[in-house]
Amino acid sequence: MNPHRESDTDPRLPSLDLARVRADFPILAEPVHGKRLAYLDNAATTQKPEAVLKALDNYYRHGNANVHRAVHELSQRATTAYEAARDRIARHFNAARDEIVFTRGTTEAINLVARSFLEPRLKAGDEILLTMMEHHSNIVPWQLATERTGARIVVAPISDAGELLIDEWRQRLNVRTRLVAFAHVSNALGTLNPVTELAREARVRGIPVLADGAQAVAHLAVDVKALGVDFYACSAHKVYGPTGFGVLYAKREHLEAMPPWQGGGDMIRTVAFEGSTWNDVPYKFEAGTPPIAGAVGFAAALDYLDGLGLDRIHRHEEGVLAYATEALSRIPGLRLIGTARNKSGILSFVMDSAHPQDIGSILDMEGVAVRSGHHCAMPLMQRYGVSATARASLAVYNGTDDIDQLVSALHKVRALFA
Ligand code: PLP
Repeated sequence: MNPHRESDTDPRLPSLDLARVRADFPILAEPVHGKRLAYLDNAATTQKPEAVLKALDNYYRHGNANVHRAVHELSQRATTAYEAARDRIARHFNAARDEIVFTRGTTEAINLVARSFLEPRLKAGDEILLTMMEHHSNIVPWQLATERTGARIVVAPISDAGELLIDEWRQRLNVRTRLVAFAHVSNALGTLNPVTELAREARVRGIPVLADGAQAVAHLAVDVKALGVDFYACSAHKVYGPTGFGVLYAKREHLEAMPPWQGGGDMIRTVAFEGSTWNDVPYKFEAGTPPIAGAVGFAAALDYLDGLGLDRIHRHEEGVLAYATEALSRIPGLRLIGTARNKSGILSFVMDSAHPQDIGSILDMEGVAVRSGHHCAMPLMQRYGVSATARASLAVYNGTDDIDQLVSALHKVRALFA
């Protein structure tokens, strides 16, 4: 039995027929500790719709083989599906197909840029400009590059509300800045950064820009050309797609100039013991058997997203966010961390009475899945003087009933720890 409310459109959230959307996600019917599941850990990973499950199943049942390697029928099918996925993904981001490099996810995409694009250009004294709100994946790869070259990381501060202080950020751009990198949407605060404006500022100074889109792609239309970035990274699993797959968009001129970063099959044109030559972009950066099912699954996830319409998704999630912000603000002793004016559906909070870990455990017993911890953003936690927060993060299938369930579970936390 599906324990979800059999409602039609929630009158407070008119943009989507929530019951129909929920029916697309079989796992939402899974009871947790005998309770209805309110899945609010979408910034960590999203659930998968039937369309993605079917695409994966269909690929493995009817088309599984290695790609680019054989003339037999199944290999042809796999190659066709894989390369069609690249076209589909490129179209979604308004990029050319050879500007789309397949990776294991955002983390690998950023590491690729750090290792292959940035590091060969870095020398002692050079700077990389980050912001205080970055995920460790958008800090540590740059740190590794600075350790090997003597360059340094510069950090732009944020306001108490969690907004990037743009004047301070601009003041930190200078002739030593070799790259700027920032989250499109912060995973711990929900802040939506003004990517186009930041990219313009960097571009007029000739500084390349990387935007970390891990938390943006499921919620906003992303046009890399309109954003004006040099690099854009994302993970399929945060966009209703499978784990183990992600995308790096990079301007073709950069990819052409970058050396390969991993060696193996598929990334070469010729190999001899005396030396090898490289395949065309993007294959030059895709060593070994690629994540074929991942690409097929992500393409299906993007079809699903576009079927619903990103505008409608955005409006729906905005409505749930407003409802949740108001509801959480009324809970005594609860403090929201991240109250930017432009925000995506992420609610990080601490409570006077209980540690985030205890909050997470008690909510779990009530069927509410949230994340507790530092959210891979330790410097940001320090900025707010906390070691951890509890975080509820929204997806298209969340509604006000999920928030009501969260709020009533939080009242149980208060009662237990009062
Ligand atoms: N950047 C941000 C803003 C994230 O939220 C995450 C994951 O939570 C990542 C990067 C890393 O993504 P992945 O672990 O899929 O590589």
